[in-house]
Amino acid sequence: MKKMQPTLAAERQYVVEKEKFVPVSQYFGEDTFSHAVIKEKLPKDVFKKLMQAMNENKTLDEETANVVAHAMKEWALEKGATHFAHWFQPMTGTTAEKHDAFADPCGPGAVIERFSGKQLVQGEPDASSFPSGGIRATFEARGYTAWDMSSPAFIKRNGISTTLCIPTVFISYTGQVLDKKTPLLRSLRALNQSALRMLKLLGAKNVKKVQVNLGIEQEYFLIDMDYYYKRQDLVLGGRTVVGAPPAKGQELEDQYFGSIKERISSFMHDVEEELYKLGIPAKTRHNEVAPSQYEIAPVFEEANLAVDHNQMIMETLKYVAKKHRLAALLHEKPFAKINGSGKHVNWSLSDDQGNQLLNPGRTPQDNIHFLVFLIATIRAVYKHSDFLRATVASYGNDHRLGANEAPPAILSVFLGEQLTQILDNIEKGTVHKATNAEIIDLGISSLSQVSKDYTDRNRTSPFAFTGNKFEFRAVGSSQSVACPAYALNTIVAESLDDLAEKIKAKGSKNINQAVFDVLKSEIAQVRPILFNGDNYTREWAGEAKKRNLPNEKTTPGALKALVTDRALKLFEKYQVLSNEELKARYLIHTERYIKDLEIEVNCLANICLTQVIPAAAAYQQKLARAILDAKEALGSAAVISSQAELLKKILDLSNDVYMACKEIAAGMQAAKGMDSEQKKAEMLCARVKPKMDELRESVDALENLVDDEIWPLPKFWEMLFIC
Ligand code: ADP
Ligand code: MG
Repeated sequence: MKKMQPTLAAERQYVVEKEKFVPVSQYFGEDTFSHAVIKEKLPKDVFKKLMQAMNENKTLDEETANVVAHAMKEWALEKGATHFAHWFQPMTGTTAEKHDAFADPCGPGAVIERFSGKQLVQGEPDASSFPSGGIRATFEARGYTAWDMSSPAFIKRNGISTTLCIPTVFISYTGQVLDKKTPLLRSLRALNQSALRMLKLLGAKNVKKVQVNLGIEQEYFLIDMDYYYKRQDLVLGGRTVVGAPPAKGQELEDQYFGSIKERISSFMHDVEEELYKLGIPAKTRHNEVAPSQYEIAPVFEEANLAVDHNQMIMETLKYVAKKHRLAALLHEKPFAKINGSGKHVNWSLSDDQGNQLLNPGRTPQDNIHFLVFLIATIRAVYKHSDFLRATVASYGNDHRLGANEAPPAILSVFLGEQLTQILDNIEKGTVHKATNAEIIDLGISSLSQVSKDYTDRNRTSPFAFTGNKFEFRAVGSSQSVACPAYALNTIVAESLDDLAEKIKAKGSKNINQAVFDVLKSEIAQVRPILFNGDNYTREWAGEAKKRNLPNEKTTPGALKALVTDRALKLFEKYQVLSNEELKARYLIHTERYIKDLEIEVNCLANICLTQVIPAAAAYQQKLARAILDAKEALGSAAVISSQAELLKKILDLSNDVYMACKEIAAGMQAAKGMDSEQKKAEMLCARVKPKMDELRESVDALENLVDDEIWPLPKFWEMLFIC
């Protein structure tokens, strides 16, 4: 391929014409219809009604909704908005929005800007083209969007167009869930109730609300846009389906936390500016392990907000990248044999009294709360590790989980030595009477000072306790956090309820004693899920098998956990997802797996047949010509073995590529005959996927032989090192 000169890339650097510096505190959240704005813009009584509706999860009466909508419209017009949109999160995994102009005809040749309470509260997008898993047939195309008051409306700027976006849930006209936000909101409600019940049982007073917090660390790649547009696999599927590893990868360990290149720093600055306007507290940025890989992490927030914000972060990364002539790659594994991208989801609970419930505290009572919530979470993960695994299963994430760079497909919990010791002591029955002195003796109080650094050391664990939160590290970089979050919330709600029942059943007057008795037997039962060692080793896979821990390496296998009797009952009981809704999700995820694979197969075939084989043929011809020419010039004295050997190799590899393409096509054809999506997915996974890998090897071998000037695809070294 005609090489792009590094100097050219440098010239393309986005020039930041820095206007006068404005401290972030002066514009943070200026594009959100925040509490402060609401308070300022609304009459006092309306503000009160709105707050009440928000806190109690109630719907607004029409009159109030009209007043709120009017204020929102006036505010949006001031910001330059011409349209409003219900912004929702369908099962595609990304966000969706349908814009409607504020301008409305009012008499001949005139318009007026209008926005009613009804338009604010509910929308009716023709939603027939969203994945529904069979819930809503296309002839019943109506879907509803309904305002989610717990996440602020915001202004979305795109070029010169400005739109007011209203976060909403998305449901069918029969009331069934069609999105990712609704189960999340329901799970937050369920967990709040179960946690409050538990705290009350433990004697906590005054606590009225328990909330889930999420801190979401987002990894991504950036490459020059010129390269991006020359690769249909990246543009269409997000991942390079062929490409040989570069001579230098990440082995020098010089990238992680390395100094950030100027072009990238400017990009990050712009991203953060956009995020600050949207009230997203972007905090940390750094180079990641792989070349051209980066991370952005905002400060943790209430879960629903954090999930919305993560969607907005992903979108902003892509949007701002274009302005800098870069492409942001959010795929879990854009480059084979180079580290992939994940999303660490830091999960914790806090109450409205300012207590972090997973924080070991200073008093024995705090520590009892801590132990109960800690063990309830471990128990939940142990009982439902298969479900949790299913929520992070995707075609893209299959490349990552278990590939010795990310946590394996086996879920285990890391606690660190000190905490493990404390659990050991509880199990051994060191706490006899559960007196305050004994509880303090457990050494929990000292945990809070040391545990953060101490526990954070094991980076190989998929589910690690890190001081005052759990960090779920198996989520893929492009995935919505809503699914793993609703799963985690619901399974922990169940464990809290189960533990509460057991504590109550002890009938003991000494509540602390009852708690420790229950914890003692629970610890014994959840032991198999606890693992402090290196999760990347083969020994662990063997050990996990002995412990009967599931190890589902592929998405078709993992997804089955969504529809076990156990799962169906649980999510129905907590009113997070009905059986029908969960089964629909299973189908949607399975279909998605198939579609992702099909897209890649089509890209791969196209690249092979229209780029790779023609390039190989051109080089073959060049070599053949050279051999003939040499023979002609030198006669029998010509030594042409090197070129002849090369020619033969290239011919063989081209044949391999062509044959593999044919076999893949046959596999695709055979899969069409399967009588269920499940079987189709399994067949594609077992038969077609390995062939794709095989094909890739041949293409990559060709890449390393064919004349660089002829090779039609940007190579890894260019994409990852020229920027
Ligand atoms: P790292 O994992 O990179 O060492 P940290 O674990 O300190 O960094 O923090 C990563 C993320 O965890 C950040 O988004 C941070 O805001 C979030 N976080 C910190 N404390 C909590 C908490 N109590 N609950 C949820 N997230 C948290
Ligand atoms: Mg972390």
